[in-house]
Amino acid sequence: MLVILTRTCSENDLQRVIHIAEKHRLNPGTFESGGRTVVALEGDISLADAKEAFLHIPAVEQIIPLDRPRISKPQPGTPAQPENPIFTKGTFTVIAGPCSVESEDLMLPLARRLRAAGATLFRGGVFKPRTSPYSFQGLQESGLQTLTRIRSETGLKIITEAMSHEHLDQVCQVADVIQIGSRNMQNTPLLNAVGELEKPVMLKRGMASTVKEWLLAAEYIASGGNEQIVLCERGVRTFADHSRFTLDLSVVPAIQASSGFPVVIDPSHGTGKRQFVPSMSRAAIAAGADGLMIEVHPAPDDSISDAEQAIEPEQFESIMKDIGKLAEALGIRLN
Ligand code: PEP
Ligand code: MN
Repeated sequence: MLVILTRTCSENDLQRVIHIAEKHRLNPGTFESGGRTVVALEGDISLADAKEAFLHIPAVEQIIPLDRPRISKPQPGTPAQPENPIFTKGTFTVIAGPCSVESEDLMLPLARRLRAAGATLFRGGVFKPRTSPYSFQGLQESGLQTLTRIRSETGLKIITEAMSHEHLDQVCQVADVIQIGSRNMQNTPLLNAVGELEKPVMLKRGMASTVKEWLLAAEYIASGGNEQIVLCERGVRTFADHSRFTLDLSVVPAIQASSGFPVVIDPSHGTGKRQFVPSMSRAAIAAGADGLMIEVHPAPDDSISDAEQAIEPEQFESIMKDIGKLAEALGIRLN
């Protein structure tokens, strides 16, 4: 557990924190970080007890459990973190689009259709993390141009993946939300780089990562100052062989219990089979998720990547009708 003190804390304030920590046998140690004094506690104390013991001291700014994302106490006079402008609390957001951005002639009509059906964001990779180095790696610069055109002509917001911090500036020019892919969940230089942005970041779960590892990866971004984080469940490896990955919907209540970050479900990568996408989409909203990300292609079998999981625009329209009915029944507002 780390107790972070305000920049203006006095020696007396620090001694008060140390005194309380010693009384609880927490073996306090102090160090300086970013112009602040931090008191590290070693013993066994629950977050609730630590809050009760220290948060009443005005010089204590935050308590950060080392295995959970930060718990902040807003300080009077400190500027609030900019609100996540897209994934707002209490609304359900739908992201749709192909796995990879393809030709503009295919993508623009698709984007118009997705928008009409109720999507808020268009997805599509231009830098593609592929399992094989011989597979298509994305259209890169020309793909970004297509995304720019989609953004200006349809009003859809754009989410696309940044695979390395060298591409980040380019991707930021067009993306409203930066996607960090499953294979990069623990790429700490990339997490640090997006932590410095003032832009929403969607962090996909590593395909073999626990919730704790995922939240600690999110903590890298948050500790850089960017708390506009959205977590995306995209399935994990299990012994199941009826699907490509196992979509773990139980992360929705697990994340909600331990962090305030919105959770988006990706039933496309999460199952790898297009026939499972409609039912898993309905299950996601029923489970309390904050949104969905679905791969849609005008001719799914011809998709350059992830063809088996892509659905047709008609199927997407039908899913959106179901989502509308479920949202109404559950009292959820659609973005
Ligand atoms: C994707 O969203 O197209 C993608 C590559 O996802 P993941 O990183 O979850 O495999
Ligand atoms: Mn894909």
